[in-house]
Amino acid sequence: MNIIEIIEKKKQKLELNKEEINYFVTNYIDGVITDYQTSALLMAICLNGMTENETITLTKAYIDSGETIDLSSLESITVDKHSTGGVGDKTSLILGPILATFGLSVAKMSGRGLGHTGGTIDKLESIPGFKTELSKEDFLYQVKKINLSIIGQTGNIVPADKKIYALRDVTATVDSIPLIAASVMSKKIASGSQIIILDIKYGSGAFMKTADDAEKLADILIKIGNGFNRKTIVVISTMEQPLGNKIGNNLEIEESIDLLKGHGPSDLKEVVYTLVGEVLIATNLATDLKDAFTKIDQKIESNEAYLKFSQFVEFQGGDPKFLDNIDQSNHSKIIKMSKNGYIKSINTSNIGLAAMHLGAGRQKLEDIIDPTAGITWFVKIGDRLNVGDDICEIHYNSEENIDNVIELIHSALEITDEHIDQINIIEKIMA
Ligand code: URA
Repeated sequence: MNIIEIIEKKKQKLELNKEEINYFVTNYIDGVITDYQTSALLMAICLNGMTENETITLTKAYIDSGETIDLSSLESITVDKHSTGGVGDKTSLILGPILATFGLSVAKMSGRGLGHTGGTIDKLESIPGFKTELSKEDFLYQVKKINLSIIGQTGNIVPADKKIYALRDVTATVDSIPLIAASVMSKKIASGSQIIILDIKYGSGAFMKTADDAEKLADILIKIGNGFNRKTIVVISTMEQPLGNKIGNNLEIEESIDLLKGHGPSDLKEVVYTLVGEVLIATNLATDLKDAFTKIDQKIESNEAYLKFSQFVEFQGGDPKFLDNIDQSNHSKIIKMSKNGYIKSINTSNIGLAAMHLGAGRQKLEDIIDPTAGITWFVKIGDRLNVGDDICEIHYNSEENIDNVIELIHSALEITDEHIDQINIIEKIMA
C-alpha cells in the first residue's frame, strides 16, 4: 500500500477501505506521509466526498491516534456539547451550569477560537485566575464534586485531528462534511460522555452556509454517534445574525450571567433552552420541550443555575468578585443607521471580523485577545429602523482599526423598503 495509490483512488471517486484510511492517518501522524500528500488527499475528499463507512472509519482512526477519557467512575449520566460555532455563540457557558443543576455531569473539553472571535476557553480565560488546564484527576474530581468542568482540549486527545485540522485550515479544505464530521465526533467520542448534544449552525456566520448542508452534516454526525453507542442529538440553528446581543469575551460572560439570572436576549435563551431541553427529554427528566422549559425556568428563578456557574468559576480558580463587576473597555462608540428601512440580511461573518479587528479575536494563532473588546449588537433581521437609530456599540482600547470596523458593520447590513419577517432561530431538531 502507498499514499499515492490512496490519493489516486479518492481522485477516481472510489471508496477507501479501512486499511487504507488507517494507513493514511497513522503514517501522517508518524511523519512518513508528507503535508503535500495529505493536502492532495484532503482536497480529493473535499471534492469527491466520503461514504458513511469511510467517515465512520476515519473517525475511528482519529480516536485511535490518541488518548481517550474514561468517565465510568462518574455516577450520573455524562453529557457533552459541541457547537460548530458562530458570532455571539456563548451557549456552552450557560448550558453547562443548567445541566449540572439537574444532576447531569458535564465534563467538557473545549477549543479556542477557530473563527474570528474567541472560543469558550478564551471567554473563560477572560475571568481573572480561571484555569483551563487541569490534570485528568482534578478534572474528574471537580465533575464528581459539582457536576461541571470545562477545560481546554489536551493535545493527547485525537492528535490526528489537531495535525490535520491545522493543514485543512491553510489548504481550503475545512468545509467538507465528512472531514468536519470526523473531526467533531472523534473529539466528542474520545472525551467519553454518554450523551452528545450538537448545535449545528448555518448561515452567513457559520461553516455551513445553508440549512440543507447543516442537515446533511447532522445526519452523518448522528450516524457516527450511534455507531459508537452514544446518544447523539442535533439542534440546527441559524447563524444568519449574531446570537444574542454581545460579542467579545468579557461581554459574552456578562450576557451569559444575565441569562442565568433570568434576563438576556430571547434568541439566545431559545437556543440554550432547546439544547438543554433535548438533553432533559433524552434522560427522562422532562416529557417534552414545554415541560423542559418550565423546569429550566425553575432552575433560573431559584438562582440555582447562576450559583452553579459561580461555583464552577471558583472551583477553577476564577475570581467570583469579577462576575459582579466585569471589566469594561476604555472606549466605546455607538454606530447608527444612515438609511431608513427593514433589515433584510446581516453578513454575520463581517460582524465577527469587526469584533476581531477591535481585539476580541485572533488573526493569527499567536495573537493576544483583548478581553474587554467587542460589540454590543442591537438589531436583528426584520427590524424596521430609521436614520440615526442605533445598530450597535463598539468597545475598544485601541483606535487603530476603528474606520475599518465601522465600514465592515455598515456594509454587513442589507436594508430594504419592503417588509421583512423576523427569522426562526431553531430550524430543526434531529436524533
Ligand atoms: N470544528 C471542528 O472541531 N472541526 C471541524 O472540522 C470544523 C469545526
